[in-house]
Amino acid sequence: MANVSLINLKKQFGASIAVSDFSLEITDGELVAFLGPSGCGKTTTLRMIAGFIEPTAGRIVIGDNDVTNTPVHRRNTGMVFQRYALFPHMTVAHNVSFGLEMHKIAPVERDKRIREALDMVRMTELKDRYPRQLSGGQQQRVAIARALAIEPKVFLLDEPLSNLDAKLRLEVREEIRTLQQRLGLTTIFVTHDQEEALAISDRMAIMHDGIVQQVGSPQTVYEHPANLFVADFLGKMNFFSGSPCADSQFLTQEELTLNVTKLKPDTTMVGVRPERTVLSSLPEADNNIAVTVQNVSYLGAHIHVTLKGPGVQRLTCQIPNTQAGRNDAVLHVGASLYLGFSAEDCAIFNERSH
Ligand code: ATP
Repeated sequence: MANVSLINLKKQFGASIAVSDFSLEITDGELVAFLGPSGCGKTTTLRMIAGFIEPTAGRIVIGDNDVTNTPVHRRNTGMVFQRYALFPHMTVAHNVSFGLEMHKIAPVERDKRIREALDMVRMTELKDRYPRQLSGGQQQRVAIARALAIEPKVFLLDEPLSNLDAKLRLEVREEIRTLQQRLGLTTIFVTHDQEEALAISDRMAIMHDGIVQQVGSPQTVYEHPANLFVADFLGKMNFFSGSPCADSQFLTQEELTLNVTKLKPDTTMVGVRPERTVLSSLPEADNNIAVTVQNVSYLGAHIHVTLKGPGVQRLTCQIPNTQAGRNDAVLHVGASLYLGFSAEDCAIFNERSH
């Protein structure tokens, strides 16, 4: 296994910059997720690390080796793609064997590695089947076995769960994480699914327009978003724009005065996560905004409530299902309530838009 260093990595396609000055140190055995909206440069970065795309500038170091100009097959990376990319005319075992043959692994060692890799992903019994005789989840397991059989220094996964249904996604996601931790594999996992990235990673790199916005543990990035883009992309947030008007007090453009613990002189935007808010018929919190219920969506584990606040504000509140019963009497469209939240739970930003 190995550390991976991305040093001022850049990729330009003609006039458009797909990845701009990406620097990141990934430690041995760590799983880092690249997360961002479509077109933000995740796949391009991953493909530069694998060697499929040549960087316009910058360097890639794996372990002690600068691999920036090293061909794909000498980088010792194992890659798993969204569309499995199995050879349709080869059996499961042959698909796994193929990479080993390319790496010129001797037959005895090859057989051992095929057995171990298929065993790891619980596909031993299906080793003689062809890809068309497998489900999507099984095909992706074979692709994982194929990537791991070469004993890569770095494991690269590009949206590996996108083609699977919701339940299977969860299952294969957990299997990948368990395997990665057991083998201590340095891993980069590209996804546009925030829940997936939060669940699977040690750290995540949030990207937007080819630029890394924030790198940190899931908890850090979610609880302390570095900017408005991250706050808005990862989870939901209610935003209030305005300026400080007194010590720990923020005057919004709708002329609401909010109590905000961590307020700074240059704060231009205050945010609060919907799950950090409560709805009540009396003003009971540090901050209480008079709202009217616009919509109530039952989402199983929680209830999502859309509210109209003063001015043009559209606000949202998320109530855990376990607490929803208490609000039944008042939680209907048109109800007038207070949206409450604590001064502590307010996030601050010094931008107006992203
Ligand atoms: P997605 O989640 O949709 O796969 P992504 O974050 O992985 O998106 P990339 O595939 O890395 O994004 O693309 C980043 C940008 O680079 C996009 O604007 C894309 O159109 C552009 N791009 C990617 N490959 C090429 C190419 N071969 N030629 C020109 N532009 C490209």
